[in-house]
Order: sequence, then C-alpha cells, then structure tokens
Amino acid sequence: MTRRPQRTCVGCRRVDDPAHMRRYVLVDGVVVADPTGSAAGRGAHVHPDDECWRRAVAGGFARSFRQRVRVECSESDSSPTR
Ligand SMILES: [Zn+2]
Repeated sequence: MTRRPQRTCVGCRRVDDPAHMRRYVLVDGVVVADPTGSAAGRGAHVHPDDECWRRAVAGGFARSFRQRVRVECSESDSSPTR
C-alpha cells in the first residue's frame, strides 16, 4: 500500500490528500490556478470550498508563498477543465 502524499490547505490548514484540493502556483507575484497540478514551483493547496478560498485569499496564500501576493482568479475560475 502506497502512502499518499499529504498537503496542508492554506485556507483551513487541515492536512488532506491533494487530490481533494486545488493547487495554485505563484507566477510573477500573482496566484494562478494550476488545474493540472503539475506546474513548476512552489504550490499552495486549497479545498474547493468557499470558506477555504476566502481564508486563502485573506492571507493563506501570502503565508504559504512567504510574500505579498495578488489574487486575480476566483474560486470558480479554478474549476478543472474537462
Ligand atoms: Zn481547506
């Protein structure tokens, strides 16, 4: 049995399987969605949940990326494309 990787949601700070969360990366100081989950660089994970998203925007992303960030996408923008 393989051990699944665990990531901390930057919104609620609960540890969870990243398959249950959305991944975001920082590009030139802007938080962008990473629907493939494989973009290079430091990633931040957030549950697909309004409350987690609000907390992430309110400071979770900045804390995770250790710098001031801009968030130009919305929670709904990040829906995986099918
Ligand atoms: Zn969460």
